[in-house]
Amino acid sequence: MADMNTRIEQFKKMAEADPKNELGHFSLGKALLDADRPQEAAVSLRQCLDLNPNIAKAYQLLGAALLKLDQKEDAIKALTAGAQRADERGEMMPRNEMARMLKDLGAPAPQFKQAAAERPVGEGEVQCQRCNRIARRLTAPPFRNATGQEIYEKICADCFREWIGMGTKVINELRLPLNDPQAQKIYDQHMMEFLNLR
Ligand SMILES: [Zn+2]
Repeated sequence: MADMNTRIEQFKKMAEADPKNELGHFSLGKALLDADRPQEAAVSLRQCLDLNPNIAKAYQLLGAALLKLDQKEDAIKALTAGAQRADERGEMMPRNEMARMLKDLGAPAPQFKQAAAERPVGEGEVQCQRCNRIARRLTAPPFRNATGQEIYEKICADCFREWIGMGTKVINELRLPLNDPQAQKIYDQHMMEFLNLR
């Protein structure tokens, strides 16, 4: 708790020293929310969004703070605005996260432009099942089996590249010997989960 309070004090100083810097307010708001001080968190996050209405994560945290305060209607407003802003900016992860929170709250689904403005999938492209974008596909299946084919058909090159980095961490952290079929299975499970294929 002492640590948390130190962090809050630091961010408070940051926000006060440079009140036009949205990141100070954002960090302070996040720290306050972590410390279960939603009322103050909401104030800081609103200040952040007044300065820069493009920070998708700030809407998400504001929504969480308002829910803690039992202000469901305002939370829904914040999350809807955030999801739409993230959608306009092509930030699919926070967009989908906020859409999921809204769904859990029983709120109406936000209107998304990205989905409406869908364009056909072009040559060398794929509608990626992980990031939802129409993006460059891999030049060939990454493995010579059904999994490799599935990834080739459903996942964009960027997301697969992201997995390669993550997969190395998985191997190192779990100390997986990849010549062991059981370890290969675990690796595949992590991969399919990461790529949103399971
Ligand atoms: Zn992708």
